[in-house]
Amino acid sequence: MKKTPLENWIIKRTGISPENPDALKSYQLEKVLETLSYAKDNSRFYQKQLESIDPRKIKSWEQFEQLPLTRAEDIKNNPFDFLCVPQSQIARIVTLNTSGTSGPKKRIFFTEADLQKTVDFFDYGMRSLIDNTDRVMVLLPGQAYGTIGDLLKKALDRTGTYCVVYGLLNDLEAVEKTMIENEINCIVGIPIQVLYLSRSKAASFKHIEKVLLSTDYVPQALVIELNRKFGCQVFNHYGMTEMGYGGGVECQALNGYHLREGDLYFEIVDPLSGKAVADGVTGEIVFTTFNRQAMPLIRYRTGDIGAFSVDACQCGSFLRTMKKVSGRLKNRIQLAGDVTFDLKELEEILLADEDLIDYQVTIKDDQTLLIEVSLYQYETAKAKEAQLQRCIETHFLKNHGEVMQIEVKRSPLQKPDQLVNSMVKRKIRDWRKESSSE
Ligand SMILES: [Zn+2]
Repeated sequence: MKKTPLENWIIKRTGISPENPDALKSYQLEKVLETLSYAKDNSRFYQKQLESIDPRKIKSWEQFEQLPLTRAEDIKNNPFDFLCVPQSQIARIVTLNTSGTSGPKKRIFFTEADLQKTVDFFDYGMRSLIDNTDRVMVLLPGQAYGTIGDLLKKALDRTGTYCVVYGLLNDLEAVEKTMIENEINCIVGIPIQVLYLSRSKAASFKHIEKVLLSTDYVPQALVIELNRKFGCQVFNHYGMTEMGYGGGVECQALNGYHLREGDLYFEIVDPLSGKAVADGVTGEIVFTTFNRQAMPLIRYRTGDIGAFSVDACQCGSFLRTMKKVSGRLKNRIQLAGDVTFDLKELEEILLADEDLIDYQVTIKDDQTLLIEVSLYQYETAKAKEAQLQRCIETHFLKNHGEVMQIEVKRSPLQKPDQLVNSMVKRKIRDWRKESSSE
């Protein structure tokens, strides 16, 4: 099995010795402390947030772990307070559409150097699954400068790897045509869209050997189906815009991500206390950037649920592994009677059904859980609706007791670009508190 290419990349970029892997932690501490000083000197937000803290007095990870966390709301409330460079030096601004169209929006800023760091990570990250004989199609936005597709193309250009950036899947026939004409054997895309493509029974799909899923956590049911039906390897990438798009990617062991440790420092914390948890224990993923010019982030809460693996990776790398993200805190919903359920429970049932294209889960009120599904086979849809209803009712009864009325309803067949769950991270609509924010 090939060792993750991220190991050599990190050794090269950080200058640490491979004989002394502990040096990585020392390197990261030094870099994180640099970030603290830089952010406190240059950003209005961290001037305030770190007011009583002298970064020069922090000498250990224990002290670092006492620092306050940064929340998504902090960025949303005033993104410009995070800026560390004049606006004239910003090469790319990403505005994240989270919940609803009104209210403040999260904005993330990058300088040209920040974007180049992402290109560098994508270059080496992609080598986990491909080499320059592969032919890649990217189903992610790529038209504009500095978009994820644009950066990925630049990364693959560095090794002379053939790459077509199609953009988001909006037209099945056009995508299939692109796959055939360009003899594509590797697809990079959003989980629900790649699933949709695979379910279109596209003949060209049988030439696909590798898939990289990105931008959202990936239900196991989806990986199993892609593996089984197409015999292709399914790699997961973990990242979010705030990280500079990229955060970590699986090696050929396909058992969790190796991380972008030369640019980011990851922690897992207890979401309630904010305290770090031991390796192997599940908590919220938190990260700190280093060498980021425009908008450094310190102990930023991702809202994603994850854990470090306690075992060394089978690929033989000294790098640690983060287990696959298992969901989002926002998708853990409190029901009546202190019962908590997670969207991923439903997804494992819904996405395992080959007729399903898309779904929307809504908590209508304290009594009713509404699940709207788009299905392929219109003729059998009524029976399918009833079947899904039974499956979910049984699951709920067994795991949570009789807490909710389950209502499964068909929604009209969506065109691919209207898939409700494709563009944003998949989430539950909770009508009991519609004002709640991302
Ligand atoms: Zn590995």
